[in-house]
Amino acid sequence: MIDILNYFITTPSALYFVVGVLGLCIGSFLNVVIYRTPKMMEQEWQQECQLLLHPEQAIIDHSKFTLSTPASTCPKCKSPIHWYQNIPVISWVALRAKCGTCQNPISIRYPFIEVLTACCSLLVVAVYGPTLAMLFGLVLTWTLIALTFIDFDTQLLPDRFTLPLAALGLGINSFAIYTSATSAIWGYIIGFLCLWVVYYLFKLITGKEGMGYGDFKLLAALGAWMGPFMLPLIVLLSSMVGAIIGIILLKVRKENQPFAFGPYIAIAGWIAFLWGEKIMKVYLGQY
Ligand SMILES: [Zn+2]
Repeated sequence: MIDILNYFITTPSALYFVVGVLGLCIGSFLNVVIYRTPKMMEQEWQQECQLLLHPEQAIIDHSKFTLSTPASTCPKCKSPIHWYQNIPVISWVALRAKCGTCQNPISIRYPFIEVLTACCSLLVVAVYGPTLAMLFGLVLTWTLIALTFIDFDTQLLPDRFTLPLAALGLGINSFAIYTSATSAIWGYIIGFLCLWVVYYLFKLITGKEGMGYGDFKLLAALGAWMGPFMLPLIVLLSSMVGAIIGIILLKVRKENQPFAFGPYIAIAGWIAFLWGEKIMKVYLGQY
């Protein structure tokens, strides 16, 4: 084990190669997570509603989706996707972006998420090097990618990701990996409360709900990872990211999609995680 660790420390190219390939595979898994998690949540809500409204009826378990079952199939012709058709990026290119059986087009989004995950993972290695901070940084990166796309698709930021992410941030910072334990605790508290206050003021003034609780929990998690001093930067960056992506989406789709703030917080949080301290130094003029 120590030998493997030493090898990666002395041979950075090997580390980049392993993380790059791992990133592609994790990206492939994230495609499944992004597609299935909202469906799994919907299933659970239906069961909960039935239990509440008709407690006398026996629960019929309609659960179809878990992360591992059923096996992946083509959404159109339902033919199974074999392992050799499921190799990140390569299969998509080899199949020329079409289902091998019915020629139904396969979205470019699948290889895009795989390549994106690999690139983001490599950037984490570039910034943090072969450290514990890099390992946990990869976990944060992968979780944020899943959250970004799930929220983008469904306007949901599932608790099953945001809450463990916050817990992990508090846990690792008890060993001061990214910030001190005290700073992590205050990051968590202020991260949650600052959006919560905005939410209630907005609701008081307009009578509408402009934001979901998921947004508070995500910002709280990012606060737990990076401490409270990174929060203003994350909020500022998220509005900039939101403006840029908003303009791109308006050009591409020309339609009005429901507004989700979560992806912008996640992307801004990730930028702050890698380059936040540098950005702050430049901003404060201390180069
Ligand atoms: Zn097909």
